[in-house]
Amino acid sequence: MSQEPTSSLVIAADLGGTHLRAALVDQSGRIHAQLKRDTPHGESANCIVESLASAAAELSSQLKSAAPTVVSAAIMVPGTVDKTNTVVVSAPNLPCLDNFALKAALQEKMNLPVLLENDANAAAVGEMWLGAARGYSNVICITLGTGVGGGIVLDGKLWRGADGSAGEIGHTTVEPFSGPPCKCGNHGCLEVFASATAIVRMAKEDFDKYPHSTLGLDGLTALKVYNAGIAGDKLSIDVFKRAGRYLGVGLANIITLLGPEVIVIGGGAANGWSLFEEEMMEQIEGRVFPSRGKNVKIVTAECGDNAGLVGAAKLAFDMQQL
Ligand SMILES: [Zn+2]
Repeated sequence: MSQEPTSSLVIAADLGGTHLRAALVDQSGRIHAQLKRDTPHGESANCIVESLASAAAELSSQLKSAAPTVVSAAIMVPGTVDKTNTVVVSAPNLPCLDNFALKAALQEKMNLPVLLENDANAAAVGEMWLGAARGYSNVICITLGTGVGGGIVLDGKLWRGADGSAGEIGHTTVEPFSGPPCKCGNHGCLEVFASATAIVRMAKEDFDKYPHSTLGLDGLTALKVYNAGIAGDKLSIDVFKRAGRYLGVGLANIITLLGPEVIVIGGGAANGWSLFEEEMMEQIEGRVFPSRGKNVKIVTAECGDNAGLVGAAKLAFDMQQL
């Protein structure tokens, strides 16, 4: 594929609960430069604004004089953004941003048009643009990370719902009466069974039932559970199977309700695909209408950590054309 000359760039930033990643992205989705730093924690919203602005300035300073122009900034937020994409309604891992008018603050600081979007929504757009959902217009993207994020694209458009909060697939109920508590206040959410955090919790909970398990509980991560599972550890295999069953229940509900063409599953815990795929598919096939189930592709994400960055940039380029 030839590299088309590009006339403009977007500064895309992934404001995570732990890290802030930022990149210069062109109209073809190519990343020209990027950086990663710690997200300022436990501090004011203004510290976040300063950090985002300085990351943008650092990236811009790397551009040569003849380089394309930076036309806007696109910021991914780990939480809910309001219907008008101007205010962060709730960011559980960055509570200093709750009800903060982040867009206006950043526009003033950066002197650029700014777009805000929920991180999972941006990832869905990224996968539809350049990843596993290329060519489709009815797409569900699920991220199995610290939590479970979700983005819904219907007829080619991101579905934000009446108040901007749609797509929280991780907080749909899959175990209504005996499910563990979720940080959202509900019980039995998909997130408490299928996130990386849940993989670790379930392994610890069941450890005593598997006296021959090779897992060490100190510093346990979902990746360690996965590696032990691949090596044949029964506890680890059963934990991923359990996650797969609940994921399958959640996906069956989504398929029945929305009729997507493709479901893209990403995030760290998606690496356990080979351990949970069978259980997940069994639940889906047993629950959705046969005619519908056959028509849905369920695939792993292709854009990795960059799905959100390129998706946010795409949304910003589209906004420029309005
Ligand atoms: Zn929840």
